[in-house]
This record gives sequence, structure tokens and C-alpha cells, in this order.
Amino acid sequence: MIEKILPDLYKIEIPLPDNPLKSINSYVIKSPGRNLIIDTGMNRKECMAVMDFSLKELGINLNKTDFFITHLHADHCGLVSKLAADNSNIYCSQPDADIINSTNFWDRIKKFALMSGFPQQELRELVEKHPGYKYSTTRFIDFNILKEGDMIKIGEYIFKCIETPGHTKGHMCLYEPNKKIMITGDHVIKEITPNISLWSYEENFLDDYLKSLDKVYELDVKLVLPGHRSIFRNLRERIKELKHHHQTRIDEILSILEKEKGEKDAYQVASQMSWALTYDSWEQFPSPQKWFATGEAAAHLKYLEGKGMIRRKTKGNRICFFI
Ligand SMILES: [Zn+2]
Repeated sequence: MIEKILPDLYKIEIPLPDNPLKSINSYVIKSPGRNLIIDTGMNRKECMAVMDFSLKELGINLNKTDFFITHLHADHCGLVSKLAADNSNIYCSQPDADIINSTNFWDRIKKFALMSGFPQQELRELVEKHPGYKYSTTRFIDFNILKEGDMIKIGEYIFKCIETPGHTKGHMCLYEPNKKIMITGDHVIKEITPNISLWSYEENFLDDYLKSLDKVYELDVKLVLPGHRSIFRNLRERIKELKHHHQTRIDEILSILEKEKGEKDAYQVASQMSWALTYDSWEQFPSPQKWFATGEAAAHLKYLEGKGMIRRKTKGNRICFFI
């Protein structure tokens, strides 16, 4: 579970039972002054047990430890409210800190999902079961807000904050220019394509994401420490693959809208896209898969609208797209 990556830098693999992500990587950097823990796992007992055991094994004193949260998702920040001591700094971007502490986030998302054609009967049950809702932080967190270019110094490491919006609005990576390592959260992962979902047409997260990929492509990185699965070396090659993946999706959505010349909401478009799942039909998809698929479709539709290739209109209480 604990792996030493570099001097004073360790990876703890925190399990996520019954979750397709399988586990999340928490990184621990030890120093004679304060320690830093990057991402924490969900607020659930299985995560806490492994974290607790591993921190003891590494001799980490939580009273001398700060936290960096790459982004708002519960698998990355859920446990921080239990781990942090009163004197811990908890670093995060402003946009994601706002959502972690907000109380009406899910209401806004539910409204958008309904307007995107998501069936009402599936929605209520889904949100209650959603791990982001169930396993989130338990109290208001007084975050230390960081932004582009801010530095965190821990022992021999000097990390620079790199804003990488897309997976979430305030997603942030940490780059160590001297050691040429980058902690990428869910921005770039080797074995998984990060989910780019949209839950408001005010945003254009796919456009943000593709620009954030170009931004980190420019950096000299020898070792990538992602939020899930394995540590890897060739960041630029992976970025090219991810950009290709989204271009394929964009082309597919255009052909779906071209084929039938009608107006479609994000749910209808998602039901006609090809997904790497083993179900025979869209109807058989479990609700959470339909949910992620609809969010992905919405992100790509908004991107196409932003490029002037398709148009959007509100029909009654539904938001539709057409060519
Ligand atoms: Zn995430």
C-alpha cells in the first residue's frame, strides 16, 4: 500500500471499494518541519483504515501536517475534514473550495440534469447513492486558497501550483521544476480517461480541459504522479492520446446530430454514443453510468456550440442542440 517514490516522497494507495476507480493515490511528503499530504480518499471507514495505518507506518504526526487538495471530488478531499488538525493548512483553489463548502451544489446539478433530459425518477435515487454526496467532507473547511504560480516548500521540494481547469473548474496540479515531477490529480491519468462533465452551460469545461492539456504539455516533466493507477513517465504521449480521444468523441457527436437533423438533449445524444461498457443497450446502463455519459455529452455539445458548429435552444424545460 505504501510505496517510496523519491527521497521523503511516498505514495499511499487508498482503496475505493465498489467503485470502478478501484483506488486513489495519496502522496505524502515528509520533512523535518511540516509534512504535506496531497489528496486523501473518501470520507468512509475503508479509506480511513488504510490512511491511518499508513501514516503511522510513515511516522507522520498530523499536528505537523498540511494538506493539498487537487480538486473537489470526494475521493480526493472527503477525508480531509477528519485528518486535518486545528493548525493544519488545507490548500485548494478558490472555485473548488467554494463548491466543497457549498450547500446547494447538488440542487443546481439536479436541475441541469432534468433540463438535459435525465429521467426524473432515476435522478433522486441516484443523487442519494452518489459517492460524491455520500462520502464527502463533514464540516465547513477554512481553506488556504492557492492560485497559479503560488509555491509550497516542503523539505527539498518546491512545488509550483499550476491551474488546470477542465475536470473541475478549479483543478490544480503541482509541478516541481528542479526534480521535474508533476502531481496531476485527475488532469492526466495513464490508464483512465478523466471524465469531463458539464453541469451548467455557463461553463465550457472541455475547451478549458484541452487548453489545460496544452499548458502542461509545455512543461519539462520526467515523472507523473497521478491521482489514480500507476505512476508513469511519458506525459506528452499521454496528452496526445487524450486529445485524440476527445476529437473522436466530438466527431461522433457531430455525426449523431447530422444523421437525424432533429433537436436532441444531452441525454438523447449520450444514449447514441459508443461507450466502453459491456451492456447490450442504453436502457441496461446503470443510472450512474447514464449520469456520467450525459455529463460527458453535455461537455462536448457545449464545446461544439462554442466553436459555432452546432446551436442550442431551450424548448419548454429542455435544453436541446441542433446543427
Ligand atoms: Zn475527480
